[in-house]
Amino acid sequence: METKKAQSPKKGEKKDIATSLRDFFVDGLKDIYWAENALVQTLPKMFDHSTDQKLKTAIKDHLAQTKEHVKRLEQVFESIGEKAEGKKCMAMDGIIKEGEGIIEETQEGPVRDAGIIASAQKVEHYEIATYGTLAAFAKTLNERTALDLLLRTLGEEKKSDTLLSYIADTNLNSQAVDGRLRSKDLNAV
Ligand code: FE
Ligand code: FE
Repeated sequence: METKKAQSPKKGEKKDIATSLRDFFVDGLKDIYWAENALVQTLPKMFDHSTDQKLKTAIKDHLAQTKEHVKRLEQVFESIGEKAEGKKCMAMDGIIKEGEGIIEETQEGPVRDAGIIASAQKVEHYEIATYGTLAAFAKTLNERTALDLLLRTLGEEKKSDTLLSYIADTNLNSQAVDGRLRSKDLNAV
C-alpha cells in the first residue's frame, strides 16, 4: 500500500515535466523573440560601422533574414496557441552591449571589422544554440509546424555563421599578406 502511494507522486512528476518543458519552450520563444527584435535594431548600426564590402553585404542580407525570423517566430507562437511576446534576453543584451563596446573602442577599418565579425558570430552562435534547443523541444512536444519553422531559421543562422567565418578568414589572409610585405620592406632597409 505504502509502495503504491509512493509511486503516485512519480506519475505526477512526469506530468510536471511535460508542463515544465512546454513552459521552457514558451519562455525560450519569448527570449529569442526579444533577441531577434533587438537585432533588427542593432544590425543597421553594425552595417554603418563596418567598411569591408563583403561584410556589409552579409550584414545587410542577414538583416532581411532577421526580420523574417521575427515573423517566423510569430507564426510559431500562433501554431502553439500562444500570444507573441518578448521577454528581455539578458544573454543577447550582453552580447549586443559587448559589440557596441568594440565599436566605441576602435577606429573605422579592418580591426573594427574584425571586432564586428567576432561579435556577429557570438550572436549567431547564441541563436544556433537557442534554435537548436527550441527545435528539440518542439520535436519532443510534437509541435510539427513549430519544428519546421524553427529548423528553417536554424539553417539560416548556420549559413550566416559560415559566411562570417569565410569573411574573417579572407581578412586574416589579407592581413598576413600585409605582414609579409612589411617584412620585405624591413629587409630592404
Ligand atoms: Fe535570427
Ligand atoms: Fe542571426
